[in-house]
Amino acid sequence: MIMSQARVPKSVLLSRLHARHTSDAGVSGLADSRPGHAAARVVKLLYRRMAALLASRAMTMAFTILACTSVWMACVLAAAKLAQLSGEEASRASATALSGDVLASVERIAGRVDEVFNDLAVMGAELPRCGEADLALMHRSQTRSVYIGAVGRMSEVDGRLLCSTMGTAARGLDLGMADFVDRTGTTLHKHVRPPWLASTDFIVMVRDDIAVFVLNDVTTSILSKSTSIDAASGAFSRHGGPMVFHRGDFDPEGIRALLRSGAQTSFDGNVLVAISPSTKSDHVAFVAFPASRVEAAVRNEQRMLVPLGVVGGTVLATCLFLLLQRMTTMAAALCRALPTERIFMYYQPIVDLRTLRCIGAEALMRWQQGDEFIPPDRFIVAAERAGVISRVTRRAVSLVAWDASALLRRYPDFHISINLSAQDLRVGHAVVLLQDLLKATGLPPSSFWVEATETGMLEASEAAKVIAQIRGMGIRVAVDDFGTGYSSLAMLDNIRPDMLKIDKQFVATIVDGGAGCEVVMAIIALSKSLGLDMVAEGVETQAQADFLLANGVRYAQGWLFGKPGPIEALKPMSL
Ligand code: C2E
Ligand code: CA
Ligand code: CA
Repeated sequence: MIMSQARVPKSVLLSRLHARHTSDAGVSGLADSRPGHAAARVVKLLYRRMAALLASRAMTMAFTILACTSVWMACVLAAAKLAQLSGEEASRASATALSGDVLASVERIAGRVDEVFNDLAVMGAELPRCGEADLALMHRSQTRSVYIGAVGRMSEVDGRLLCSTMGTAARGLDLGMADFVDRTGTTLHKHVRPPWLASTDFIVMVRDDIAVFVLNDVTTSILSKSTSIDAASGAFSRHGGPMVFHRGDFDPEGIRALLRSGAQTSFDGNVLVAISPSTKSDHVAFVAFPASRVEAAVRNEQRMLVPLGVVGGTVLATCLFLLLQRMTTMAAALCRALPTERIFMYYQPIVDLRTLRCIGAEALMRWQQGDEFIPPDRFIVAAERAGVISRVTRRAVSLVAWDASALLRRYPDFHISINLSAQDLRVGHAVVLLQDLLKATGLPPSSFWVEATETGMLEASEAAKVIAQIRGMGIRVAVDDFGTGYSSLAMLDNIRPDMLKIDKQFVATIVDGGAGCEVVMAIIALSKSLGLDMVAEGVETQAQADFLLANGVRYAQGWLFGKPGPIEALKPMSL
């Protein structure tokens, strides 16, 4: 046994390795990783702590659940908020439209009243006041609008009604104090109730000696039609005076304040008010909705938007979940682990079967998560699938440089075998990495071998070029796992490797002195005919070693000679 892991306590070796294996700066960055800038070291430390935190499965799961739930909640809350805004906006729009209708009604009435004033002022100017022709004119004018209940003339002496279309009973009617005088001098008298028409409420407008009696009830019923039972509405003059033609409960001061503010709507949580100032006259119409009406509109929007928010939130949360799952897959976790001490290399001795000396070692990557070792078969495949294998290779080469430089300088005939993946050969960055390795370590190319699987070599013609470049540098190239893929003579002819590695599954067939190991014999024959060296993998028994040596296989690797272990456990050139 050339190397035994028992000789050096594993924990000691690991801690020594961990102390050194903390840089992912690449091979050329080796010199920079020595004690340098404190800030850079702090950043690296923080990064490692973050990576370690995220690599913890419980943390990842907690983060995933938190993120997905937050996204779902945010979507539902956003939908509810949108429904609130949209319901409010719909109520504002509806109130604004209704106040526009109210304004149109009020202006129509005001227009008719003006026409009556004009009729009597112009056509009645030549007529004897309250004469037959004057009264006939008043009757005609009254028919201009259903809102107008009567027309009359006022006495200039006592300010009482002189005559009107209401007959003699109305003569002498006192309109009382005016409620408002507008800019044209027209006075407004609210709630005039002639005693003989007790149930009729008039708004009377007086200009000069002409009085127009507008039916308040008819007008407010018009307002009721344009708004709805729970809404208040009405109109007033921009320049002051009381509210005219109004219905429902409202706060006149609040409405005037809204007019002063220049805004068209307001909602204080209790009442929503919309105003429509006229562009033609002094009139301003308003509509006031109670909060219950806004709430109904919001509920209406919620019925539509909240289910959409739930569906959207579920879709987004699912997408996020899948994305996070993807991000936290093995490849992602590996990328996080790469710059940390959780990734390190083990080395398995390769012996010369003729001398039984340890002439080299294969570098095999190890990934330790807590107490668990994740098998390289799994994480290398995951890294290849995720397209991050080049980072793994860079880290492997960097670690080999760290671990083995001193040893290789001391034993110039010793070598370290580095595994390359199919993608390394396709992309070709391996050449640069190996050049950097030689430059950074100052070691000769004979200090390194490269192992690449035949699958990688088959997949791209680029691989032949890359391998030619590596061999051109003086580094020996072995076809790994030979016989397990689609080996072909054409491939070997194209690639022209230095040696073949006989896979351990074939070596395992060597029992009872070689019976049943035709594939091994075929590979040996092929290698000999092509003049290639051979390395047998997975040699576990002396019988296998004897058989291989007897059949011309020069190099071997396997548990018989030593399991993979820390660099310190290697005994180069020893028997
Ligand atoms: P491989 O290149 O064929 O490496 C040889 C594998 O056989 C190693 O498994 C080694 O531990 C195992 N082995 C050695 N001797 C014996 C033996 O006597 N009996 C048995 N049953 N097994 C033996 P490991 O370390 O688990 O590596 C598995 C594979 O992971 C490697 O196969 C290689 O394809 C890949 N791998 C490991 N490290 C790296 C790396 O740094 N880069 C790349 N690209 N691939 C790597
Ligand atoms: Ca290998
Ligand atoms: Ca192999």
